[in-house]
Amino acid sequence: ARQFTRPLNDLANQWNTLLSAIAGAERVFEVMDEPEESSDEQAAVELKQMDGAIAFEQVSFGYDNNRPTLNGISFKVKPGEMIALVGPTGAGKTTLIQLLSRFYDADSGRVTVDGRDIRSIKRESLRSYMAFVLQDTFLFKGTIRENIRFGRLDATDEEVEQAARLANAEPFILRMKGGYDKVLDIGGSGISQGQKQLLAIARAILANPSILVLDEATSSIDTVTEIKIQEGLERLMEGRTSFVIAHRLNTIRSADRILVLKDGRLLEQGSHDELLRQNGFYRDLYASQLRKMAL
Ligand code: ATP
Repeated sequence: ARQFTRPLNDLANQWNTLLSAIAGAERVFEVMDEPEESSDEQAAVELKQMDGAIAFEQVSFGYDNNRPTLNGISFKVKPGEMIALVGPTGAGKTTLIQLLSRFYDADSGRVTVDGRDIRSIKRESLRSYMAFVLQDTFLFKGTIRENIRFGRLDATDEEVEQAARLANAEPFILRMKGGYDKVLDIGGSGISQGQKQLLAIARAILANPSILVLDEATSSIDTVTEIKIQEGLERLMEGRTSFVIAHRLNTIRSADRILVLKDGRLLEQGSHDELLRQNGFYRDLYASQLRKMAL
């Protein structure tokens, strides 16, 4: 499944690069294949704040001109809502997130945040209100403290530790020799997949985003860590607009709304119960996922 997560990982790398650029930090790593981005429109503004209301209005987009990857997508999200994106591989879930974060712009239709066309917002400004928690957490060579602080470079030690506590990461950090000052290698070798996720959650809590993007882990993580991650994620999502590329039924069931994508179209949207009643594609997907998903 790794290859399918690549677009989002690229996106996270770009976001991390930007984050360090915004904060004027040293470029801590090189991104090999950043796409060329056009410069912002002259009139693009910086946001002073963001509530996190989002609307897609008849959005179509194709990576190449003759084949649309997203086709006439429309939906609205209220601030603080949790949206689960589901659909088969290649349906367009990642692409939708790429448009929301303006790594690409719609060919037709528009995306708005708090009622404002996102093309009129500076990319840096838009992304400074977003955070990503992905399957592969980007960790660099440095202490745990520095790795968490990457979420907000001017955070104090106390704020870093507070974020770690909220994320449920502190117990495992304190169990390690060196604690917050333990030096991690690039990629975080020596800590588990689940622990990396707890660090990613801490980092995102510190970033305090209005919009959160989660790509739920598919890899098996032990049950105890899994529960810690779930709790940490719930605290992180509280009060923020969140998009979850969801693989777990529990997550999908607890979403305020589920967007069901297939072949670039938004087939169905609604709560779990509503969609089951519609007796459509979601119901089939659910039935087949039930057999293979972790409950
Ligand atoms: P998955 O669950 O496998 O991650 P997805 O629903 O996130 O899938 P996308 O990654 O959005 O799907 O891909 C939608 C379609 O766009 C696919 O056919 C994919 O091959 C294509 N695609 C994705 N990224 C690019 C790109 N950078 N250039 C060209 N085509 C792309």
